[in-house]
Amino acid sequence: MIKNFTFQSPTKIIFGRGAISALKRELPSDKRIMFIYGSHSLKDNGTYQKIIDCLSGKSFVLEFSGIEPNPEYDYLLNCINRVKENNIDYILAAGGGSVMDAAKFVSLAALYDGEPWKIIESFGACCNKALPLATIVTNPASGSEVNRDGVISRASKKAKLPFGNVAVYPEFSILDPELTYTLSAEQTANGILDTFVHVLEQYLTLCVNAKLQDRFAESILTTLLEDGLIAIKEPENYEARSNLMLCSTMAMNGFLRAGVPMDWAMHMISHEITSLLGIAHSRALAILVEPYLKYCKVQKRDKLLQYSRRVWDIFEKDEEKTIDLGLEKTIDFFKSLGFKTQLSDYDITPKEVDKIVKQLISHKMIKLGENRNITPEVVKAMLTLED
Ligand code: ZN
Repeated sequence: MIKNFTFQSPTKIIFGRGAISALKRELPSDKRIMFIYGSHSLKDNGTYQKIIDCLSGKSFVLEFSGIEPNPEYDYLLNCINRVKENNIDYILAAGGGSVMDAAKFVSLAALYDGEPWKIIESFGACCNKALPLATIVTNPASGSEVNRDGVISRASKKAKLPFGNVAVYPEFSILDPELTYTLSAEQTANGILDTFVHVLEQYLTLCVNAKLQDRFAESILTTLLEDGLIAIKEPENYEARSNLMLCSTMAMNGFLRAGVPMDWAMHMISHEITSLLGIAHSRALAILVEPYLKYCKVQKRDKLLQYSRRVWDIFEKDEEKTIDLGLEKTIDFFKSLGFKTQLSDYDITPKEVDKIVKQLISHKMIKLGENRNITPEVVKAMLTLED
């Protein structure tokens, strides 16, 4: 049975070719805007100039750049200071998940009186207001453009932690598929795999007869299978880029998770792997999927069977075989995107597994999974028992 839920998706989505020009009309003219972005690629591919053109005529615009993947807390403190010093009252973020998450954190911290780290320690629960923000998506993956969530890293604490707050839903988000043409094959593959796993975390749990959420999840997965490799081979294929962009957005707008059990263990474990070993987000997920799903085969059995049948069209007489083939095809798909899929591909030693487990404990990630039974001991066993 679907549990009671509240579904809120207040962000206006402006999608399509040339959608970026909507900035002129959507951004308030009387606000003091902080424009946040990542690296030089925004300038190299021309998106920066398009945005600057749209910002002319706004009363005040300040820029803050240099946001890197896994946005760093200490670096963002500079941004928060500049926002406060300049009485900024609107945040515009252009980039992928890291830039958008950074913008959300800054917009919360700007109006928070205490130490900003408390926002992360409380997973976002200690505050209730934020500066208004808007996003321009240039690297689709996280779906951060339509939700209330983000992830922030702090190297000095070896931490990468999630936060969420209803105050940080973007007011509007611009999704222009042409802005993704210059993403490399690797960046594109990262987005596809991350989106795929975002869906699995909300779908591959327990059967609760949530037919619409299930079929919505399956439609995202099959679209990724159909158009993922096309976008990698033909980076300027507008239709494939459009479909991928919508997949990552809709995977994380909150509908897939409405009233159904969720997992997210793979993400929480991957965050520790990224912060301890420096393995990029999608790469860390790619090595966790197989050991994790194999470990959870019994508790996820019914959903795994549904997944193999509906997503991979596998209808063996033997249900066990159907499930195994579905998993095998999943891993083959990841490999076709260029991912390594085994823990041993990165030489993760038992000593490092111990560190990962310790970090999970220190971050209170001790009862993960839809049944809250993925304890640190289970994670240890799972990461060590690879064949
Ligand atoms: Zn992710």
